[in-house]
Amino acid sequence: MKEVKKCLYCGKEFKIWPSRKKKYCSIKCYQKTLKGSGNPNYNNKWTDKKKKEASMIKKEYFKNNKVWNKGLTIETDERVKKYAETQKGQKRKIKWTKEAIIKNTLEE
Ligand SMILES: [Zn+2]
Repeated sequence: MKEVKKCLYCGKEFKIWPSRKKKYCSIKCYQKTLKGSGNPNYNNKWTDKKKKEASMIKKEYFKNNKVWNKGLTIETDERVKKYAETQKGQKRKIKWTKEAIIKNTLEE
């Protein structure tokens, strides 16, 4: 007689022989737990951290975009690029591209 068990990853019920010590309904679920994404706590931490980082990046980016008027960005306009560099270049010698903002934010 097979036993009904709940998958520790997705909560789906599956049937196994009691002698087997299977915890997950499928290899897929098992693999997901190995990557850490199956653990709800791990997942929340990750999401909160990423959310925070994302909002920081956004804030930073919007702050700079306010300075660069009418949709001009340092990627598209030389003058804006120069301006942005004189504003930011004194404190940090980085190119103030979106990538740099992201990199910079993640490293802090
Ligand atoms: Zn599952």
